Amino acid sequence: MIPQFDLKKEYAFLKEEIQQELKDVFSKTNFIGGNNVNSLEKNIAKYIGVKYAISCNSGTDALHFALRSMNIGKGDEVITTPFTFISTLEAIMYVGAKPVFADIDLETYNISKKEILKKINKKTKAIIPVHLFGNPFDIRGLKQEIGNKDIKIIEDCAQSFGSGINCQRVGSIGDIGCFSFYPTKNLGCYGDGGLITTNSEEICQDIKKLKNHGVSKRYHHDIIGYNSRLDEIQAAILNIKLKYVDQFNLMRVKIANLYDEALSDLKNITIPKRPKNSHHVFHQYTICSPDRDKIKTGLEKKNIGSAIYYPISLEKQKAYKDIYTEKNRFPKSNKLTKLCLSLPMFPHLSENDVLIVCNAIKKIR
Ligand SMILES: *Cc1c(COP(=O)(O)O)cnc(C)c1O
Repeated sequence: MIPQFDLKKEYAFLKEEIQQELKDVFSKTNFIGGNNVNSLEKNIAKYIGVKYAISCNSGTDALHFALRSMNIGKGDEVITTPFTFISTLEAIMYVGAKPVFADIDLETYNISKKEILKKINKKTKAIIPVHLFGNPFDIRGLKQEIGNKDIKIIEDCAQSFGSGINCQRVGSIGDIGCFSFYPTKNLGCYGDGGLITTNSEEICQDIKKLKNHGVSKRYHHDIIGYNSRLDEIQAAILNIKLKYVDQFNLMRVKIANLYDEALSDLKNITIPKRPKNSHHVFHQYTICSPDRDKIKTGLEKKNIGSAIYYPISLEKQKAYKDIYTEKNRFPKSNKLTKLCLSLPMFPHLSENDVLIVCNAIKKIR
């Protein structure tokens, strides 16, 4: 059995260190607002290359607070991709803004810069590009095109911790970076967690209030806030995993190289592209094939997991179908939902297992 994702070997590798740190957390019993959270925020700000990192309860909250801190709401338009996890869209809905989709680029699976530029108008207040599957979108290139228009860029870095482009880490290039520590992410905790990065002190202060009941000083509530704090247990685990994240990302790249080598010559299979000057951290290794469903069932028969990220372009989701009258205007996103298949990918996946997956795919055709 080869799963599409698995944490067991990683936990076995980290177990002693994690147990030790957890003992410390339990002996102190400061479960909320302790030292681990503070040091994690400092460590991540330094790692990403920004002035401020503010932890919260999830990547979804990070995106929501990012929009709130920029006063984006009713009457405003926010451009994003229809080929992403639902959170990106939910955050825009929470603040009452209008989500405007720009179609993707089939080579990178990321939102297309050209399509974004077509959707910009006077109401556009922000753009949320997603660095999908660990592949960095060129934020700097987009900024140059936008010029001095007052449009904020919020990077959805949920799938791309540690990736970078032109020697800048994602999360440090736009106005705000939003991260998720959901267990499957490149830097994941053992529960839910999220984080926001920024160089703006004002945004930092706003988000600190939003995540903690609008508090400026204990029992002084300046704004209506939320309960969205990261806890000490998760922060302790993340501080340990942060030390290994580069190593684990390189293990992912090595696995991707093996897949590339074995699959690149196969007819009817397109391997994921790696744009120039970028560090793709392969949150997913996603191939495209007109035989996608055949490959998926063929792998299942051999007890090999694979996953379809994503089966439905977001404008077609039930909850949103009344908002989008422009159905099928995102032909590339819709095309990709029918072709994409994410193969087993996690740092501790063995070389031998990768070869078993590749051989199985070769025989399915
Ligand atoms: C996982 C994910 C999120 C949300 O993260 P949660 O921590 O699960 O709320 C947001 N955007 C993308 C692209 C994601 O993959």
